[in-house]
Amino acid sequence: MSLRDLIEFRHTLVFRLTMWYTAIFAISTSVVFIFFYFLLTAIIKDKIDQDLHGKVNRFSRVFSNQGVNTVIRNAIIETQAAGEEKIFFRLIDLSGQVFSSSNISYWEDIKVDENVIYNLLRGSDYVFQTISATNRKHKVRVLYSYIDPGIVMQLGHSMENSTRIFEVFRKTFFVTMSAIIIFAALIGSFLAKRALSGVWKVTRTAQHISEGSIDERVPVTERGDELDQLATTFNQMLDRIQKLIITTKEMSDNIAHDLRSPVTRIRGEAEIAITTSTSIDEYQNMASGTVEECDRLLDMINTMLMISKTESGVQEINKSNIDIVKTLKSACDLFQPMAKNKGLKLICNNSDNIMLNGDTRKIQRMIANLLDNAIKYSTSEGNIYLSAFLDNEKSVVISVKDTGIGIEDKDIPHIFNRFYRCDPSRPQGGAGLGLSLAKAIVEAHDGKITVKSVKNAGSTFIVTIPNEGSSNASASFA
Ligand code: ADP
Repeated sequence: MSLRDLIEFRHTLVFRLTMWYTAIFAISTSVVFIFFYFLLTAIIKDKIDQDLHGKVNRFSRVFSNQGVNTVIRNAIIETQAAGEEKIFFRLIDLSGQVFSSSNISYWEDIKVDENVIYNLLRGSDYVFQTISATNRKHKVRVLYSYIDPGIVMQLGHSMENSTRIFEVFRKTFFVTMSAIIIFAALIGSFLAKRALSGVWKVTRTAQHISEGSIDERVPVTERGDELDQLATTFNQMLDRIQKLIITTKEMSDNIAHDLRSPVTRIRGEAEIAITTSTSIDEYQNMASGTVEECDRLLDMINTMLMISKTESGVQEINKSNIDIVKTLKSACDLFQPMAKNKGLKLICNNSDNIMLNGDTRKIQRMIANLLDNAIKYSTSEGNIYLSAFLDNEKSVVISVKDTGIGIEDKDIPHIFNRFYRCDPSRPQGGAGLGLSLAKAIVEAHDGKITVKSVKNAGSTFIVTIPNEGSSNASASFA
């Protein structure tokens, strides 16, 4: 690992998580150690105190049975047996004068504390002191206690053993802590790396995608944990983006294709007019052809804009109460001549009023598109049925049924896509935008549009729009 890698590693989440893990581990271990340290200190001190107390009580009993000389003798033997550097005693009268002691040469610096004698005179039974002198390696625990109402015994005990235990404890603490910190750092970094491996997978996939492989997806395990949820959401987002890219590409291809033909035609006609036309009539013909083509182009561009605006919600839906039966009848009247021209029967026999809360112009446009298609894709002698009914008082259903050429099963999933035409070679076909606009309008009203079709038998387009806000007293399907 180079110095740069190391500096970069310091800014990673793995490093931060590892540090947190190690710190928490070290702090909790220290707390446990400190707790045990104080517990051990208290236990050892308590043990020394009990020891000293036991001894003084024993000397007090010896004093009352056998007198002071036996006490002195026994005490000297005991200090010699324990080690004169470990334990000492002094016998003190109530004026604070020492009248007997063990070999005190090692304990000269530990004097008789007059305040303690004063405290004893004022009624205390005994007094404990812990003395730490600068020239001594170990602390000394000293007990002052009466062995007789007129004699105080000062009994001192070196805390050498306990100091040793604490030293061992401290050394163990540092060694253990170092090991624990290294161990915690290793475990912490392992856990952090493992926990973040899912995030790395997402990052890697995002990198590959940014390099061009849009088909790649983050692998999802069966655990269903947060990282799987992240991966699933990320994959869903990619699916949507990919779909959008494909749709946009298809759309721009289609736009380019659909614009090229009329523009080429306009150019061709203009060129012919320039090179061959001699009379004003010929120029007029060319101009009216150009106007027609331009109108078609404008219509296509306007429809595309309308679809985009309706889909994105830029164009507001101006809702009002529409009498849908009246709207269907008007549409029938409007399209009747066109249907008649093709020898088709346009049947619209709804009776009751059905109200729909929607945008009048958009709903009219949607019905017109469906009706226009029904006529366009019907052969003569066919019928077209236009009807509306209320479904459970909850939604208005509009149906446009024809007995025309029908749609092949393979085309049905695509017919609502922009520029999709089942058979572009059909003379009656348009730009492939009519159904996408109808769908955008229906969806802008929170509704849905479906189709049922049988090849060479006809198609039925069903539009269902929720009728919240409209006032339908009663309605029936005719
Ligand atoms: P177009 O302008 O080509 O009619 P649409 O978006 O309105 O575009 O329709 C898409 C395609 O769906 C049409 O090309 C046509 O093949 C098919 N289609 C739509 N309506 C009908 C229908 N009533 N009967 C048969 N085919 C239909």
